[in-house]
Amino acid sequence: MASPAASKPHVVLIPYPAQGHVTPFLRLAKALHARSFHVTFVHTEFNRARLLRSRGADGLRFEAIPDGLPPPDHPAELDATQDIWAICEATRRTGPGHVRALVEGLGRDGGVPPVSFVVADGAMGFAVHVTKEMGIPTYLFFTDSACGLLAYLNFDQLVKRGYVPLKDESCLTNGYQDTRLDWVAGMIAGVRLRDLPTFIRTTDPDDVMLNITMKQRELDAPAADGILLNTFDGLERAALDAIRARLPNTIAVGPLGPEVSPPSYLPSLASSLWREDGRCAAWLDAHADAAVVYANFGSITVMARAQVGEFARGLAAAGAPFLWVIRPDMVRDAGDGDGDGETTPLLPEGFEEEVVASGRGLMVGWCDQEAVLGHRATGAFLSHCGWNSTVESLAAGVPMLCWPFFSEQVTNCRYACEEWGVGVEMARDAGRREVEAAVREVMGRGEKAAAMRRKAAAAVAPGGSSRRNLESLFAEIAGGVRAVNPV
Ligand code: UDP
Repeated sequence: MASPAASKPHVVLIPYPAQGHVTPFLRLAKALHARSFHVTFVHTEFNRARLLRSRGADGLRFEAIPDGLPPPDHPAELDATQDIWAICEATRRTGPGHVRALVEGLGRDGGVPPVSFVVADGAMGFAVHVTKEMGIPTYLFFTDSACGLLAYLNFDQLVKRGYVPLKDESCLTNGYQDTRLDWVAGMIAGVRLRDLPTFIRTTDPDDVMLNITMKQRELDAPAADGILLNTFDGLERAALDAIRARLPNTIAVGPLGPEVSPPSYLPSLASSLWREDGRCAAWLDAHADAAVVYANFGSITVMARAQVGEFARGLAAAGAPFLWVIRPDMVRDAGDGDGDGETTPLLPEGFEEEVVASGRGLMVGWCDQEAVLGHRATGAFLSHCGWNSTVESLAAGVPMLCWPFFSEQVTNCRYACEEWGVGVEMARDAGRREVEAAVREVMGRGEKAAAMRRKAAAAVAPGGSSRRNLESLFAEIAGGVRAVNPV
Protein backbone atom coordinates (compact mmCIF):
# COMPACT_ATOMS: atom_id res chain seq x y z
CA MET A 1 0.00 0.00 0.00
CA ALA A 2 1.27 3.49 -0.83
CA SER A 3 2.36 5.51 2.20
CA PRO A 4 0.41 8.75 2.85
CA ALA A 5 3.55 10.67 1.78
CA ALA A 6 3.55 8.93 -1.58
CA SER A 7 0.12 10.31 -2.37
CA LYS A 8 1.14 13.91 -1.72
CA PRO A 9 1.68 16.16 -4.72
CA HIS A 10 5.40 16.80 -5.06
CA VAL A 11 6.45 20.26 -6.24
CA VAL A 12 10.01 20.96 -7.36
CA LEU A 13 11.11 24.60 -7.06
CA ILE A 14 14.08 25.79 -9.11
CA PRO A 15 15.13 29.37 -8.25
CA TYR A 16 17.87 31.28 -10.05
CA PRO A 17 20.87 31.27 -7.69
CA ALA A 18 20.79 34.85 -6.40
CA GLN A 19 19.36 36.26 -3.18
CA GLY A 20 16.49 38.15 -4.84
CA HIS A 21 15.26 34.86 -6.32
CA VAL A 22 16.01 32.45 -3.47
CA THR A 23 14.05 34.59 -0.99
CA PRO A 24 10.67 34.72 -2.78
CA PHE A 25 11.03 31.07 -3.80
CA LEU A 26 11.60 30.04 -0.19
CA ARG A 27 8.49 31.98 0.83
CA LEU A 28 6.53 30.11 -1.85
CA ALA A 29 8.10 26.85 -0.65
CA LYS A 30 6.89 27.46 2.90
CA ALA A 31 3.40 28.34 1.71
CA LEU A 32 3.29 25.08 -0.28
CA HIS A 33 4.67 23.08 2.63
CA ALA A 34 2.06 24.59 4.96
CA ARG A 35 -0.54 23.14 2.56
CA SER A 36 1.00 19.70 3.01
CA PHE A 37 2.60 19.50 -0.41
CA HIS A 38 5.90 17.71 -0.64
CA VAL A 39 8.51 20.27 -1.73
CA THR A 40 11.97 19.89 -3.20
CA PHE A 41 13.93 23.15 -3.30
CA VAL A 42 16.82 23.21 -5.74
CA HIS A 43 19.85 25.35 -4.95
CA THR A 44 23.09 25.50 -6.86
CA GLU A 45 25.94 23.73 -5.10
CA PHE A 46 27.60 27.12 -4.55
CA ASN A 47 24.60 28.59 -2.71
CA ARG A 48 23.84 25.33 -0.91
CA ALA A 49 27.29 25.56 0.64
CA ARG A 50 26.55 29.13 1.76
CA LEU A 51 23.24 28.06 3.27
CA LEU A 52 24.42 25.06 5.26
CA ARG A 53 22.35 26.12 8.22
CA SER A 54 19.09 25.41 6.33
CA ARG A 55 18.76 21.71 6.75
CA GLY A 56 15.27 21.15 5.43
CA ALA A 57 12.26 19.76 7.23
CA ASP A 58 9.92 16.85 7.02
CA GLY A 59 8.35 17.17 3.58
CA LEU A 60 10.70 19.91 2.39
CA ARG A 61 14.10 18.98 1.22
CA PHE A 62 16.97 20.79 -0.40
CA GLU A 63 18.81 19.49 -3.42
CA ALA A 64 21.60 21.10 -5.39
CA ILE A 65 22.77 21.18 -8.98
CA PRO A 66 26.03 22.60 -10.37
CA ASP A 67 25.88 26.16 -11.69
CA GLY A 68 28.26 25.40 -14.56
CA LEU A 69 30.94 27.84 -13.37
CA PRO A 70 34.49 26.94 -12.32
CA PRO A 71 35.15 27.17 -8.55
CA PRO A 72 36.15 30.68 -7.41
CA ASP A 73 39.88 31.55 -7.42
CA HIS A 74 39.85 33.25 -4.06
CA PRO A 75 38.32 32.10 -0.73
CA ALA A 76 36.69 35.55 -0.25
CA GLU A 77 34.58 34.88 -3.34
CA LEU A 78 32.96 31.90 -1.63
CA ASP A 79 30.78 34.30 0.33
CA ALA A 80 30.17 36.95 -2.30
CA THR A 81 27.65 37.56 -5.05
CA GLN A 82 28.54 35.68 -8.20
CA ASP A 83 28.83 37.34 -11.58
CA ILE A 84 25.22 37.61 -12.76
CA TRP A 85 26.16 37.59 -16.45
CA ALA A 86 28.39 34.53 -16.13
CA ILE A 87 25.77 32.64 -14.13
CA CYS A 88 23.02 33.37 -16.65
CA GLU A 89 25.17 32.07 -19.47
CA ALA A 90 26.50 29.04 -17.58
CA THR A 91 23.15 27.89 -16.19
CA ARG A 92 21.48 28.20 -19.57
CA ARG A 93 24.26 26.20 -21.23
CA THR A 94 24.70 23.46 -18.63
CA GLY A 95 21.42 23.57 -16.67
CA PRO A 96 19.10 21.44 -18.85
CA GLY A 97 21.13 18.26 -18.29
CA HIS A 98 21.39 18.89 -14.54
CA VAL A 99 17.67 19.57 -14.18
CA ARG A 100 16.80 16.41 -16.11
CA ALA A 101 19.17 14.29 -14.01
CA LEU A 102 17.79 15.75 -10.78
CA VAL A 103 14.13 15.21 -11.67
CA GLU A 104 14.84 11.70 -12.96
CA GLY A 105 16.72 10.95 -9.74
CA LEU A 106 13.77 12.14 -7.65
CA GLY A 107 11.54 9.87 -9.73
CA ARG A 108 13.69 6.85 -8.82
CA ASP A 109 13.83 7.79 -5.15
CA GLY A 110 11.23 5.65 -3.39
CA GLY A 111 11.37 7.94 -0.33
CA VAL A 112 9.56 10.83 -2.03
CA PRO A 113 6.33 11.04 -4.04
CA PRO A 114 6.75 11.24 -7.83
CA VAL A 115 7.33 14.78 -9.09
CA SER A 116 3.96 16.16 -10.11
CA PHE A 117 4.59 19.89 -10.60
CA VAL A 118 7.55 22.20 -11.22
CA VAL A 119 7.89 25.92 -10.57
CA ALA A 120 11.09 27.18 -12.18
CA ASP A 121 12.45 30.68 -12.09
CA GLY A 122 11.90 32.74 -15.23
CA ALA A 123 15.65 33.32 -15.10
CA MET A 124 16.08 29.52 -15.23
CA GLY A 125 13.48 29.35 -18.00
CA PHE A 126 15.41 26.70 -19.91
CA ALA A 127 14.08 24.22 -17.33
CA VAL A 128 10.56 24.42 -18.73
CA HIS A 129 11.56 22.67 -21.95
CA VAL A 130 13.10 19.78 -20.01
CA THR A 131 10.29 19.25 -17.52
CA LYS A 132 7.50 19.67 -20.09
CA GLU A 133 9.22 17.06 -22.24
CA MET A 134 9.10 14.80 -19.18
CA GLY A 135 5.35 15.40 -19.03
CA ILE A 136 5.40 17.47 -15.83
CA PRO A 137 3.20 20.59 -15.59
CA THR A 138 5.51 23.57 -15.16
CA TYR A 139 5.03 27.20 -14.20
CA LEU A 140 7.65 29.91 -14.49
CA PHE A 141 7.92 32.33 -11.59
CA PHE A 142 9.41 35.62 -12.76
CA THR A 143 10.61 37.35 -9.62
CA ASP A 144 10.40 40.74 -11.40
CA SER A 145 7.61 43.28 -11.14
CA ALA A 146 4.86 43.08 -13.76
CA CYS A 147 6.05 46.40 -15.20
CA GLY A 148 9.55 44.93 -15.41
CA LEU A 149 8.39 41.73 -17.11
CA LEU A 150 6.27 43.78 -19.51
CA ALA A 151 9.29 45.90 -20.39
CA TYR A 152 11.33 42.75 -21.10
CA LEU A 153 8.48 41.41 -23.24
CA ASN A 154 8.89 44.51 -25.40
CA PHE A 155 12.60 43.97 -26.07
CA ASP A 156 11.68 42.24 -29.35
CA GLN A 157 9.78 45.36 -30.44
CA LEU A 158 12.66 47.60 -29.43
CA VAL A 159 14.95 45.55 -31.66
CA LYS A 160 12.43 45.47 -34.55
CA ARG A 161 11.85 49.22 -34.31
CA GLY A 162 15.60 49.90 -34.34
CA TYR A 163 16.06 51.31 -30.82
CA VAL A 164 18.29 48.43 -29.80
CA PRO A 165 21.19 47.79 -30.17
CA LEU A 166 22.28 51.39 -29.72
CA LYS A 167 23.95 52.99 -32.73
CA ASP A 168 26.98 53.96 -30.64
CA GLU A 169 28.08 54.75 -27.11
CA SER A 170 27.03 58.39 -27.39
CA CYS A 171 23.39 57.20 -27.20
CA LEU A 172 24.01 56.66 -23.49
CA THR A 173 24.75 60.32 -22.84
CA ASN A 174 23.38 62.45 -25.69
CA GLY A 175 19.77 62.57 -24.54
CA TYR A 176 18.71 59.55 -26.60
CA GLN A 177 17.80 57.70 -23.41
CA ASP A 178 15.08 60.30 -22.85
CA THR A 179 13.23 59.16 -25.99
CA ARG A 180 9.59 58.60 -25.08
CA LEU A 181 8.01 55.28 -25.97
CA ASP A 182 4.30 55.90 -26.06
CA TRP A 183 3.60 52.71 -28.04
CA VAL A 184 4.34 50.26 -25.22
CA ALA A 185 0.86 48.97 -24.36
CA GLY A 186 0.24 48.67 -20.63
CA MET A 187 3.09 50.91 -19.49
CA ILE A 188 2.61 54.28 -17.84
CA ALA A 189 2.42 57.29 -20.10
CA GLY A 190 5.68 59.04 -20.72
CA VAL A 191 7.85 55.99 -20.22
CA ARG A 192 11.32 56.59 -21.65
CA LEU A 193 14.06 54.37 -23.00
CA ARG A 194 16.00 55.01 -19.77
CA ASP A 195 13.11 53.52 -17.75
CA LEU A 196 13.42 50.12 -19.44
CA PRO A 197 15.73 47.37 -18.12
CA THR A 198 19.35 48.40 -18.56
CA PHE A 199 20.25 45.34 -20.63
CA ILE A 200 19.15 47.30 -23.71
CA ARG A 201 21.99 49.78 -23.13
CA THR A 202 24.30 47.95 -25.49
CA THR A 203 25.74 48.48 -28.96
CA ASP A 204 26.30 44.74 -29.39
CA PRO A 205 23.50 42.78 -31.07
CA ASP A 206 24.98 39.60 -29.55
CA ASP A 207 25.09 40.98 -26.01
CA VAL A 208 24.66 38.02 -23.62
CA MET A 209 22.11 39.56 -21.26
CA LEU A 210 20.07 41.14 -24.05
CA ASN A 211 19.79 37.80 -25.79
CA ILE A 212 19.25 35.64 -22.73
CA THR A 213 16.55 37.90 -21.32
CA MET A 214 14.80 37.84 -24.72
CA LYS A 215 14.97 34.04 -24.91
CA GLN A 216 13.53 33.73 -21.40
CA ARG A 217 10.52 35.83 -22.33
CA GLU A 218 9.99 34.75 -25.94
CA LEU A 219 10.97 31.07 -25.96
CA ASP A 220 10.62 29.92 -22.38
CA ALA A 221 7.62 31.83 -21.02
CA PRO A 222 5.15 30.77 -23.75
CA ALA A 223 6.19 27.12 -23.22
CA ALA A 224 5.12 27.22 -19.55
CA ASP A 225 1.68 26.26 -18.28
CA GLY A 226 1.49 29.49 -16.36
CA ILE A 227 3.44 32.49 -15.10
CA LEU A 228 3.64 33.58 -11.46
CA LEU A 229 4.46 37.11 -10.37
CA ASN A 230 5.15 38.48 -6.90
CA THR A 231 2.84 41.45 -7.29
CA PHE A 232 -0.88 42.12 -7.00
CA ASP A 233 -3.64 43.16 -9.37
CA GLY A 234 -4.49 46.32 -7.46
CA LEU A 235 -0.92 47.56 -7.92
CA GLU A 236 -0.10 46.65 -11.51
CA ARG A 237 -3.36 45.88 -13.26
CA ALA A 238 -2.52 47.58 -16.59
CA ALA A 239 0.85 45.86 -16.86
CA LEU A 240 -0.65 42.50 -15.87
CA ASP A 241 -3.39 42.82 -18.47
CA ALA A 242 -0.82 43.63 -21.16
CA ILE A 243 1.27 40.61 -20.13
CA ARG A 244 -1.83 38.40 -20.22
CA ALA A 245 -2.45 39.48 -23.81
CA ARG A 246 0.73 37.50 -24.60
CA LEU A 247 0.89 35.01 -21.76
CA PRO A 248 -2.76 34.38 -20.85
CA ASN A 249 -2.20 32.29 -17.76
CA THR A 250 -0.27 34.90 -15.77
CA ILE A 251 -1.24 35.17 -12.12
CA ALA A 252 -0.21 37.65 -9.45
CA VAL A 253 0.33 35.99 -6.07
CA GLY A 254 2.10 38.71 -4.12
CA PRO A 255 3.25 40.21 -1.99
CA LEU A 256 4.81 36.94 -0.84
CA GLY A 257 5.41 38.34 2.61
CA PRO A 258 4.60 37.44 6.21
CA GLU A 259 0.87 36.92 5.58
CA VAL A 260 1.58 34.19 3.03
CA SER A 261 4.74 32.87 4.63
CA PRO A 262 5.02 33.82 8.33
CA PRO A 263 8.64 34.01 9.55
CA SER A 264 7.61 31.83 12.51
CA TYR A 265 6.76 28.94 10.14
CA LEU A 266 9.76 26.59 9.82
CA PRO A 267 12.07 29.33 11.18
CA SER A 268 15.16 27.17 10.70
CA LEU A 269 14.78 27.43 6.91
CA ALA A 270 16.87 30.49 6.20
CA SER A 271 17.19 32.22 2.87
CA SER A 272 19.82 34.86 3.73
CA LEU A 273 23.09 34.11 1.96
CA TRP A 274 24.91 36.44 4.37
CA ARG A 275 24.82 36.29 8.16
CA GLU A 276 22.17 38.64 9.56
CA ASP A 277 23.36 41.10 12.19
CA GLY A 278 21.20 40.59 15.26
CA ARG A 279 21.61 44.13 16.65
CA CYS A 280 19.07 45.80 14.34
CA ALA A 281 15.85 45.06 16.24
CA ALA A 282 17.08 46.39 19.60
CA TRP A 283 18.57 49.47 17.93
CA LEU A 284 15.30 50.18 16.12
CA ASP A 285 13.33 49.64 19.34
CA ALA A 286 15.14 52.63 20.81
CA HIS A 287 13.82 55.02 18.15
CA ALA A 288 10.54 56.86 17.65
CA ASP A 289 7.92 55.75 15.11
CA ALA A 290 8.89 56.30 11.45
CA ALA A 291 12.04 58.17 12.50
CA VAL A 292 14.72 55.98 10.94
CA VAL A 293 16.10 55.96 7.39
CA TYR A 294 16.98 52.42 6.39
CA ALA A 295 19.57 52.13 3.59
CA ASN A 296 20.22 48.84 1.82
CA PHE A 297 21.16 48.20 -1.80
CA GLY A 298 20.41 44.48 -1.99
CA SER A 299 22.66 41.59 -2.86
CA ILE A 300 24.14 42.56 -6.24
CA THR A 301 24.75 46.32 -6.25
CA VAL A 302 28.36 47.39 -6.14
CA MET A 303 29.29 50.94 -5.33
CA ALA A 304 32.33 53.16 -5.68
CA ARG A 305 33.92 54.42 -2.46
CA ALA A 306 33.29 57.98 -3.52
CA GLN A 307 29.54 57.28 -3.76
CA VAL A 308 29.53 55.68 -0.31
CA GLY A 309 31.14 58.87 0.97
CA GLU A 310 28.41 61.02 -0.60
CA PHE A 311 25.67 58.86 0.93
CA ALA A 312 27.41 59.04 4.31
CA ARG A 313 27.68 62.83 4.24
CA GLY A 314 24.10 63.19 2.98
CA LEU A 315 22.72 60.89 5.68
CA ALA A 316 24.74 62.68 8.34
CA ALA A 317 23.50 66.09 7.17
CA ALA A 318 19.84 65.02 6.94
CA GLY A 319 19.77 64.56 10.71
CA ALA A 320 17.55 61.46 10.90
CA PRO A 321 18.86 58.33 12.60
CA PHE A 322 19.79 55.66 10.05
CA LEU A 323 20.40 51.95 9.73
CA TRP A 324 22.78 51.36 6.86
CA VAL A 325 23.64 47.95 5.44
CA ILE A 326 26.94 47.72 3.60
CA ARG A 327 27.47 44.17 2.35
CA PRO A 328 31.03 42.94 2.81
CA ASP A 329 31.37 42.63 -1.00
CA MET A 330 29.54 45.84 -1.93
CA VAL A 331 32.54 48.12 -2.38
CA ARG A 332 35.10 46.59 -4.66
CA ASP A 333 37.34 49.48 -5.70
CA ALA A 334 40.52 49.62 -3.68
CA GLY A 335 40.08 53.32 -3.11
CA ASP A 336 43.31 54.34 -4.77
CA GLY A 337 41.78 56.28 -7.63
CA ASP A 338 44.81 58.49 -8.19
CA GLY A 339 47.30 55.61 -8.07
CA ASP A 340 49.39 57.15 -5.30
CA GLY A 341 49.30 53.99 -3.20
CA GLU A 342 47.10 55.63 -0.54
CA THR A 343 43.75 53.95 0.10
CA THR A 344 40.79 56.27 0.61
CA PRO A 345 38.91 55.25 3.78
CA LEU A 346 35.38 54.00 3.08
CA LEU A 347 33.72 56.54 5.36
CA PRO A 348 34.49 60.25 5.66
CA GLU A 349 36.79 61.44 8.43
CA GLY A 350 35.01 61.79 11.74
CA PHE A 351 31.92 59.88 10.54
CA GLU A 352 32.54 56.85 12.76
CA GLU A 353 33.01 58.91 15.92
CA GLU A 354 30.40 61.58 15.34
CA VAL A 355 27.62 59.62 13.72
CA VAL A 356 28.10 55.91 14.35
CA ALA A 357 29.69 55.86 17.82
CA SER A 358 27.13 58.42 19.04
CA GLY A 359 24.38 55.93 18.22
CA ARG A 360 22.73 58.04 15.50
CA GLY A 361 23.66 55.50 12.88
CA LEU A 362 23.97 51.72 12.94
CA MET A 363 26.04 50.11 10.21
CA VAL A 364 25.84 46.37 9.59
CA GLY A 365 26.78 43.91 6.85
CA TRP A 366 23.37 42.26 6.36
CA CYS A 367 20.04 42.26 8.16
CA ASP A 368 16.64 40.61 8.23
CA GLN A 369 15.14 43.13 5.83
CA GLU A 370 11.54 42.04 6.17
CA ALA A 371 11.81 42.59 9.95
CA VAL A 372 13.50 45.97 9.53
CA LEU A 373 10.91 47.23 7.05
CA GLY A 374 8.14 45.94 9.28
CA HIS A 375 9.50 47.74 12.37
CA ARG A 376 7.45 50.77 13.47
CA ALA A 377 10.62 52.91 13.69
CA THR A 378 11.49 52.56 10.00
CA GLY A 379 10.30 55.70 8.20
CA ALA A 380 12.03 55.59 4.80
CA PHE A 381 14.00 53.14 2.69
CA LEU A 382 17.00 54.19 0.62
CA SER A 383 16.96 51.38 -1.92
CA HIS A 384 18.29 50.18 -5.26
CA CYS A 385 14.69 49.26 -6.19
CA GLY A 386 15.22 45.54 -6.64
CA TRP A 387 11.73 44.13 -6.98
CA ASN A 388 11.77 42.25 -3.69
CA SER A 389 12.90 45.34 -1.83
CA THR A 390 10.29 47.44 -3.62
CA VAL A 391 7.38 45.11 -2.98
CA GLU A 392 8.51 44.51 0.62
CA SER A 393 8.61 48.28 1.12
CA LEU A 394 5.14 48.72 -0.42
CA ALA A 395 3.79 45.93 1.77
CA ALA A 396 5.30 47.54 4.87
CA GLY A 397 4.08 51.03 3.93
CA VAL A 398 7.56 52.54 3.90
CA PRO A 399 8.26 55.32 1.34
CA MET A 400 11.39 54.96 -0.78
CA LEU A 401 14.45 56.90 -1.83
CA CYS A 402 15.15 55.31 -5.17
CA TRP A 403 18.70 54.80 -6.40
CA PRO A 404 18.34 52.09 -9.08
CA PHE A 405 21.48 50.21 -10.03
CA PHE A 406 20.72 47.99 -13.03
CA SER A 407 18.20 45.72 -14.82
CA GLU A 408 14.47 46.49 -14.33
CA GLN A 409 15.29 48.37 -11.13
CA VAL A 410 15.06 51.54 -13.26
CA THR A 411 11.51 50.55 -14.28
CA ASN A 412 10.53 49.85 -10.67
CA CYS A 413 11.95 53.25 -9.70
CA ARG A 414 9.88 55.04 -12.35
CA TYR A 415 6.71 53.30 -11.18
CA ALA A 416 7.44 53.90 -7.49
CA CYS A 417 7.96 57.62 -8.12
CA GLU A 418 5.44 58.38 -10.89
CA GLU A 419 2.70 55.80 -10.62
CA TRP A 420 2.52 54.78 -6.97
CA GLY A 421 3.74 58.08 -5.52
CA VAL A 422 5.80 56.42 -2.79
CA GLY A 423 9.28 57.20 -4.10
CA VAL A 424 11.74 60.03 -4.61
CA GLU A 425 14.26 59.36 -7.37
CA MET A 426 17.92 60.14 -6.90
CA ALA A 427 20.47 60.54 -9.69
CA ARG A 428 23.08 57.86 -10.21
CA ASP A 429 25.79 60.28 -9.12
CA ALA A 430 23.72 61.82 -6.32
CA GLY A 431 25.88 64.06 -4.19
CA ARG A 432 25.52 64.70 -0.46
CA ARG A 433 23.14 67.67 -0.92
CA GLU A 434 20.81 65.69 -3.16
CA VAL A 435 20.83 62.82 -0.66
CA GLU A 436 20.06 65.16 2.20
CA ALA A 437 17.21 66.88 0.30
CA ALA A 438 15.74 63.55 -0.82
CA VAL A 439 15.72 62.21 2.77
CA ARG A 440 13.80 65.27 3.96
CA GLU A 441 11.35 65.01 1.04
CA VAL A 442 10.63 61.28 1.37
CA MET A 443 9.77 61.51 5.04
CA GLY A 444 6.62 63.36 3.87
CA ARG A 445 5.37 60.53 1.66
CA GLY A 446 4.26 58.29 4.50
CA GLU A 447 0.56 58.66 3.74
CA LYS A 448 0.74 57.34 0.18
CA ALA A 449 2.91 54.50 1.40
CA ALA A 450 0.43 53.65 4.17
CA ALA A 451 -2.36 53.48 1.56
CA MET A 452 -0.23 51.04 -0.43
CA ARG A 453 0.30 48.91 2.65
CA ARG A 454 -3.45 48.60 3.08
CA LYS A 455 -3.92 47.62 -0.59
CA ALA A 456 -1.15 45.06 -0.38
CA ALA A 457 -2.57 43.58 2.81
CA ALA A 458 -6.02 43.31 1.20
CA ALA A 459 -4.57 41.40 -1.78
CA VAL A 460 -3.20 38.62 0.42
CA ALA A 461 -5.98 38.61 3.04
CA PRO A 462 -8.59 35.84 2.74
CA GLY A 463 -10.72 36.63 -0.32
CA GLY A 464 -8.11 39.04 -1.75
CA SER A 465 -7.00 38.75 -5.38
CA SER A 466 -3.55 37.27 -4.72
CA ARG A 467 -4.88 34.93 -2.04
CA ARG A 468 -7.50 33.58 -4.43
CA ASN A 469 -4.88 33.14 -7.14
CA LEU A 470 -2.64 31.24 -4.72
CA GLU A 471 -5.55 29.05 -3.65
CA SER A 472 -6.35 28.16 -7.24
CA LEU A 473 -2.69 27.45 -7.93
CA PHE A 474 -2.65 25.11 -4.94
CA ALA A 475 -5.84 23.48 -6.25
CA GLU A 476 -4.23 23.00 -9.66
CA ILE A 477 -1.14 21.45 -8.09
CA ALA A 478 -3.37 19.20 -6.03
CA GLY A 479 -4.97 18.01 -9.26
CA GLY A 480 -8.02 20.22 -9.46
CA VAL A 481 -8.97 22.24 -12.51
CA ARG A 482 -8.37 25.96 -12.48
CA ALA A 483 -9.98 28.60 -14.64
CA VAL A 484 -7.54 30.69 -16.67
CA ASN A 485 -6.93 34.12 -15.15
CA PRO A 486 -9.04 34.06 -12.03
CA VAL A 487 -9.08 37.62 -10.73
N1 UDP B 1 17.75 41.19 1.94
C1 UDP B 1 17.86 40.88 3.28
N2 UDP B 1 18.81 41.52 4.02
C2 UDP B 1 19.66 42.45 3.51
C3 UDP B 1 19.53 42.76 2.13
C4 UDP B 1 18.55 42.13 1.39
O1 UDP B 1 17.12 40.06 3.81
O2 UDP B 1 20.49 42.98 4.25
C5 UDP B 1 16.72 40.52 1.13
C6 UDP B 1 15.58 41.45 0.80
O3 UDP B 1 14.61 41.41 1.82
C7 UDP B 1 15.10 40.93 -0.53
C8 UDP B 1 16.34 40.34 -1.17
O4 UDP B 1 17.29 40.14 -0.12
O5 UDP B 1 14.12 39.93 -0.34
C9 UDP B 1 16.98 41.23 -2.22
O6 UDP B 1 16.22 41.19 -3.37
P1 UDP B 1 16.00 42.47 -4.30
O7 UDP B 1 15.13 42.02 -5.42
O8 UDP B 1 15.50 43.61 -3.52
O9 UDP B 1 17.43 42.88 -4.80
P2 UDP B 1 18.68 42.09 -5.44
O10 UDP B 1 19.48 41.60 -4.30
O11 UDP B 1 18.12 41.00 -6.31
O12 UDP B 1 19.39 43.16 -6.21
